[in-house]
Amino acid sequence: MRAVVYRGANDLRLETVPVPPIRANELLVKVAVCGVCPTDIKKIHYGTVPPPRIFGHETAGTVVRTGALVRGFRIGERVALHHHVPCLDCHACRHRAFAQCVQYKRTGISAGFEPAGGGYAQYVRVMPFVLPGVVKIPSRNSFLEGAMLEPVNTVLKAINRLALLKGDTVLVAGQGPIGLMFTRLLALRGVSVLATDLLQTRLQLASQFGAKRVFQVRPPSSPESGKAVRNVADNLAEIAARLTRGRGLDAAVIAVPSLEVVREAQQLIRGAGQVLLFSHTKRGEAANLDLATICVDEKDLIGSYSADFTLQNEVAKLIFSRRFDVRKLVTHRFPLEQTAAAVELAAHPTPDSLKVVVTQEDRLEPRRVSPARH
Ligand SMILES: [Zn+2]
Ligand SMILES: [Zn+2]
Repeated sequence: MRAVVYRGANDLRLETVPVPPIRANELLVKVAVCGVCPTDIKKIHYGTVPPPRIFGHETAGTVVRTGALVRGFRIGERVALHHHVPCLDCHACRHRAFAQCVQYKRTGISAGFEPAGGGYAQYVRVMPFVLPGVVKIPSRNSFLEGAMLEPVNTVLKAINRLALLKGDTVLVAGQGPIGLMFTRLLALRGVSVLATDLLQTRLQLASQFGAKRVFQVRPPSSPESGKAVRNVADNLAEIAARLTRGRGLDAAVIAVPSLEVVREAQQLIRGAGQVLLFSHTKRGEAANLDLATICVDEKDLIGSYSADFTLQNEVAKLIFSRRFDVRKLVTHRFPLEQTAAAVELAAHPTPDSLKVVVTQEDRLEPRRVSPARH
């Protein structure tokens, strides 16, 4: 089969590899769609894990082979996959810290080599411990929607870490695909979202997704840098104050890897509010923060990473019912041979790019039943 193999930092090659053999308790899935995820981009760009590997973990496809011992799945079923599934039984899982579970950290979907998701290949092997994470895609929904279950789950999990009441006001900094998911899911919960981004195109979509206010920020490196940043800060503080009658924001979600934005958010939230980090996934960055804002003002600085298995059904309902129509997020589709270009675009987004996916099926939408002709 064809697969895009990671051979080192920034080195993705289209190769021919064997279709992964499956054991009696495993599934073989033919990949239809795989989303390009920032965590994979990071591994590919910085070469943080040893090659060779086949990445891609936001995968949807069709079951084409079932091991003799597998129950509950049939050939031909359209499914969405989760590459990490917790054991639900260990110390970490009992604390609902699923992403810290030893089993969860193992990757259970592979197209060969060290398991790494495998979605950038024609076929993937689904190991027994991630079978509980296989979700069937209803006939009216597309593979594309199935492939969005995993990223949306990570966002819903993060939102559940926030102590919010209906009518609260939350800043979502950064309206990339993830930021927009936060905006939409928070709006669906009756939260007033103040959405910021550098790009007007993204802010328009944020409004469509239910943001109450949008605000365009300027890059710190722009020509009038110092001045611009100060103006922006004042302005954003003003808007935040107006939206909350001077109370301050109840929470801020940081969906951009910027320390400056974290500092700013820490000032904009009210006492006992929360700042949630979602994009600071690169290790080694130290922060200079006034710790009394945490101790005296009781402002929590928290993080969230990866998905929550127990939210799987809720996420499926949100997406498949189209209360959250994730199709609006997907702007670019690349064929498997152009996976490197897909990763490049996702790493360096343009004003008109959001979620980038690699597709291997022409017919992404399920066939529509056309009304009978007379
Ligand atoms: Zn991901
Ligand atoms: Zn566990």
